[in-house]
Amino acid sequence: MKPIAVLGAGIAGLTAAFDLRRRGLPVIVFEAGKTVGGMASSFQDAEGFTYDFGAHFVSNRLAQAMGAAEICRTVGHYGEAVWLGGKSYGYPFGLLRSPHFAASALAARLRSHPADNAADWFRQTYGEALAQEVAIPIAEAWSGARAEELSPSVGEKMRAGILKTLYLKAASSLTGRAVCNGYSHEMPESAGVYHVYPGGGISRLLEPTLRRVSDIVQLESPVEAILVENERVTGVRVKGQDIVVSAAISTAPVNVLPRLIKGSDTLSPMAEFRYRPMIFVNLRFTGRNLLPDTMLWVPDRSQAFFRLTEAPFSMPWLAPEGKTQITFDIGCQVGDEFWTMPEDKLAAICLDGICRIFPNLRQKYLGFGGTLKTPVAYPVYMAKYEEQRRRFARATGIDGLYSVGRNGEFGHLLMEDVYWRTLRRMRDVASYVGAPAASEHESALPQGLTPALG
Ligand SMILES: Cc1cc2nc3c(=O)[nH]c(=O)nc-3n(C[C@H](O)[C@H](O)[C@H](O)COP(=O)(O)OP(=O)(O)OC[C@H]3O[C@@H](n4cnc5c(N)ncnc54)[C@H](O)[C@@H]3O)c2cc1C
Repeated sequence: MKPIAVLGAGIAGLTAAFDLRRRGLPVIVFEAGKTVGGMASSFQDAEGFTYDFGAHFVSNRLAQAMGAAEICRTVGHYGEAVWLGGKSYGYPFGLLRSPHFAASALAARLRSHPADNAADWFRQTYGEALAQEVAIPIAEAWSGARAEELSPSVGEKMRAGILKTLYLKAASSLTGRAVCNGYSHEMPESAGVYHVYPGGGISRLLEPTLRRVSDIVQLESPVEAILVENERVTGVRVKGQDIVVSAAISTAPVNVLPRLIKGSDTLSPMAEFRYRPMIFVNLRFTGRNLLPDTMLWVPDRSQAFFRLTEAPFSMPWLAPEGKTQITFDIGCQVGDEFWTMPEDKLAAICLDGICRIFPNLRQKYLGFGGTLKTPVAYPVYMAKYEEQRRRFARATGIDGLYSVGRNGEFGHLLMEDVYWRTLRRMRDVASYVGAPAASEHESALPQGLTPALG
């Protein structure tokens, strides 16, 4: 049988390769970079700090499914807060306790109608005050677009019922574990699904999977073209060489597919899909738990950053004792003033910004912990291509071409959902290439895990 080509060795590509191989299908994984992991990458330095590309929180259910449970430590606490008008509000209940926000949210509920865009959706769901002062500025900072231009589905992704949140927060307090809330939309969240972190960094989560497919992963081998004839994938081009394949599974950003595909213009409209570039700046301080909670949202648009994360708040082992690291998320455009700014200047802007919020942090500042940049951090759901996005979510429109993973699905997917969705999509791939049904294999799929983990 002709091999199946997988583009990318992040969690989606490795999961796809592992699953297809278990089904007895021939697979080759082409990874453009020098290492596997993609966004699930971790770094350690001589000073004893461990940090990820972004900050990563995963569930015990994912760790178990990926065979990494025994290297994971349980996370005892995770929480979010919002900094507003010189005060910190716990999210979501601290905000809802404020009569100003609660009254406007109630009034909005009484006069809701279908939303045309994200701004409308926020106003109708949270009320004018919370929408205007919190949700809209944050959505605009991470997307780089006006909330009126964004599809209402931006908001729907963020919705978590109040009762569910109450239950999960109570479960967290009772069990002393950071129970996941909003980390999976594919599988139920309950008191038995909580955050864990693999010793040595998030990238270690992928190790058991990688061990089983490392012989079929080719590093520094970007797929240069996906060859299509009569709307059917026939091959891929790697390092100038055409390789005949039975199917191609892409985890690359969807807006590069039109450039990669030779022989069809079915996906040309995807070229206008946008991702938000992001810079993550790490600053180090003496002390611990310097933020009000693990994550602090900053809707103040006069700040360069919209979110601060103190990962050691939840995972104390990520920094040496008595020290901590705060990650600043800066939304930007490739080539703009932030993208091209020297690192020391970015660090200075972040330090000045956080000291406007917490002036005492200046004396505690230890130094700069590096920056990470990506041109494709967040898919941006613009209203103008919402219909195309929904169509693409069902199928690529080209036989034998599958697009999976966070950037491949153009979805705000966290790793657990990347994992479950990729496994599900591999059943389609197997049936496309005519593989026999794998009944023994199916029992290892997600549904089997649910009852055991509650
Ligand atoms: C700031 C931030 C914070 C996050 N926090 C969390 C969190 O707390 N918890 C959580 O679960 N998830 C989190 N996520 C999401 C998580 O990181 C992603 O869902 C996941 O890592 C995506 O994996 P992937 O395999 O889909 O894509 P990627 O990791 O992007 O992998 C794609 C791979 O494809 C390769 N590639 C691209 N083009 C080609 C080509 N033409 N040929 C060959 N190779 C190619 C790339 O080099 C890359 O290695 C976060 C993401 C961000 C940006």
